Amino acid sequence: MIIGVPKEIKTHENRISLQPGGVLQLNRNGHEVLVEKGAGAGSGFTDEMYVERGATIVEDVEEIWQKADMIMKVKEPIAEEYPRMREGQIIFTYFHFAASRVLTEAVVKSKCIAIAYETVEKKDGSLPLLVPMSEVAGRMAAQEGAKYLEKATGGRGVLMGGIPGVPPANVLVLGGGIVGVNAAKIAAGMGANTTILDINIPKLRYLDDVMPKNVRTLYSTEGAIRNLLPTTDLIIGAVLIPGAKAPSLIRRDMLREMRPGTVMVDVAIDQGGCFETSKPTTHADPIYVIDEVVHYCVANMPGAVPYTSTLGLTNVTLPYAVQIANKGWKEALADDPELKMGLNIADGRIVYEDVASAFDMDY
Ligand code: NAD
Repeated sequence: MIIGVPKEIKTHENRISLQPGGVLQLNRNGHEVLVEKGAGAGSGFTDEMYVERGATIVEDVEEIWQKADMIMKVKEPIAEEYPRMREGQIIFTYFHFAASRVLTEAVVKSKCIAIAYETVEKKDGSLPLLVPMSEVAGRMAAQEGAKYLEKATGGRGVLMGGIPGVPPANVLVLGGGIVGVNAAKIAAGMGANTTILDINIPKLRYLDDVMPKNVRTLYSTEGAIRNLLPTTDLIIGAVLIPGAKAPSLIRRDMLREMRPGTVMVDVAIDQGGCFETSKPTTHADPIYVIDEVVHYCVANMPGAVPYTSTLGLTNVTLPYAVQIANKGWKEALADDPELKMGLNIADGRIVYEDVASAFDMDY
């Protein structure tokens, strides 16, 4: 099979869908890989690195779309790319169809085979191709929180780990899922007194067992959160209710109970945010202040660390890409129920119920 890797052209997207090592693995399985010139630059991978691992560098992106049996991308195709999608061509990427009718209609019209990273699903309901991005966002949340606690960036001027004789920062992590656990690990590693709140007791029980001594767990209620606000330095919002808008766990009136310069990082902002005062921000302008509380609400946190994010993403997508390339999409999906969950649109038909119902389209 010929696999095409175009450069991502969505604004501020520096990731690439395949790292040089992935080219080698596809080559070993008998496939040819075409990489657009300069496509890896944003993630720190040069054309030479791709050539060394067996890729062919192609200058003309149209040529890649014309020749490739499977296109691997990171983000959904944007308008400029719609006319390039071909009947029968496999496109393996994040699509998030429910967020865009225009994209959904363009993909239906193209009759390509759309396999979406975000709906590949394991038996236990987990989403393996989303996990690494939650890991990145969680770890970054603690790092960004530490940065904005500094006085020069608007924070209280508190050092996460304190020093001998001076207490460390108090960090609240709302939600003990993938983001929350990763945030808590890094905050605790920096020496902060860290509290994870969740409503899932078995999860809290597990975290109590495995987390370091400076992490404690607490059942999440409004009362429990209010009690902690006057002594908290950094709050990380990491809750998720699948398929729903995130609940507002910190309401506007609660900001007054915090000390000036407290920092709130809302990682759940891509689901609407879990603080009432959250609104999406960008890496170019990541924070704003309300009632003397610093808000950080960047919706695509992994975009700041494209090297780590590209490696994290391609670690999990490559094994599926190899299956698809080796067997063809029909057999690969028939053999692997997890991957089958990724099929959203095929041959001009929506085959994923949630996408069809989002727009009242035929399914
Ligand atoms: P997850 O499902 O692994 O964890 C969510 C946790 O929230 C669960 O443990 C759940 O029990 C808990 N929860 C639900 N209601 C709660 C409540 N009232 N109080 C406390 N905890 C509660 O999800 P995740 O992968 O950790 O993702 C968390 C959020 O981060 C999602 O909204 C996700 O989309 C978002 N995210 C954002 C970025 C970004 O760049 N901003 C990147 C990755 C993920």
